[in-house]
Amino acid sequence: AKRDGRNAYRFFTSEMQAQSARALTLENALRRALERQQLSLHYQPQFALEAGGETRIVGAEALLRWQHPELGWVSPAEFIPIAETTGLILPIGEWVLQEALSQLRRWDQAGLPELTMAVNLSAVQFRNDDLPGLVGRVLHDVGMPAERLELELTEGAAMENPGAAIAVMNELHARGVRLSIDDFGTGHSSLSYLKKFRVGKLKIDQSFVRDLTEDAEDRAIVDAVIRMAAALGLETLAEGVETEGQLEFLRRQGCMAVQGYLFSRPVPADAFAESVLAENPP
Ligand code: C2E
Ligand code: CA
Ligand code: CA
Ligand code: CA
Repeated sequence: AKRDGRNAYRFFTSEMQAQSARALTLENALRRALERQQLSLHYQPQFALEAGGETRIVGAEALLRWQHPELGWVSPAEFIPIAETTGLILPIGEWVLQEALSQLRRWDQAGLPELTMAVNLSAVQFRNDDLPGLVGRVLHDVGMPAERLELELTEGAAMENPGAAIAVMNELHARGVRLSIDDFGTGHSSLSYLKKFRVGKLKIDQSFVRDLTEDAEDRAIVDAVIRMAAALGLETLAEGVETEGQLEFLRRQGCMAVQGYLFSRPVPADAFAESVLAENPP
């Protein structure tokens, strides 16, 4: 059959128009989201895998949420890229840092165990020379020691300009802030840079964890990452752990920490504190 090129084309453009209209709507709405207090953070616990099969909560990852009165909940996968291209990620990212660290202080006061707060950093924030200064100011304002903060950045953010990245990482490291590589294995990192980057932890991407029990290749990759990290003196945390089978494999291979729906979805601060206190009475 002959293809109807013209219809295909018209379909394509109207779809594209709908997409860019949505992007424009989101962009305008996002400009006001901060001041209108539509942004919030959810927190997902991170657990160390200890000898004897025990798990112990050691941290929380702050994950941004946006609820708009008409658009409803908008996924970070949709609005973070818009925040990045518009530069809105700078004020939003600063708010995230401030809010997450303030929350950590409230949890300390409420008697939760001493946790590390992991905060996601966009490449756009990382490009900003003043990042170490900004992070230092927020830590000081909130009154949190730098060691309680872990910044997660992707391989892409670090490899965009490795020389500049090393300088920023050195400065953050000198201040005592921890760094981890997020989504490890999905980006284009050069392994030779791993020893130059001041990171302490690799977060093994959930795409390798998902089919761990069925897929021998994923098992080989995860195993290799864990061994390489150990040889370089880096910690490992596996993301997206959903089943006991995945957990068992990760434990056996010597993965040091885990995070995922098996333990908890990301939840609001109050729900987080409640369940942590229930399992770890002060
Ligand atoms: P990410 O940093 O890789 O975060 C992990 C994502 O996986 C989160 O999605 C989390 O809810 C989800 N997740 C956690 N455990 C499981 C699991 O067991 N199974 C599955 N299927 N998923 C799980 P979320 O919250 O939708 O965030 C998506 C992405 O948006 C994040 O990926 C991160 O790249 C970005 N993001 C979120 N908050 C921030 C932020 O404050 N700043 C920046 N720059 N980016 C953020
Ligand atoms: Ca992350
Ligand atoms: Ca990740
Ligand atoms: Ca991701």
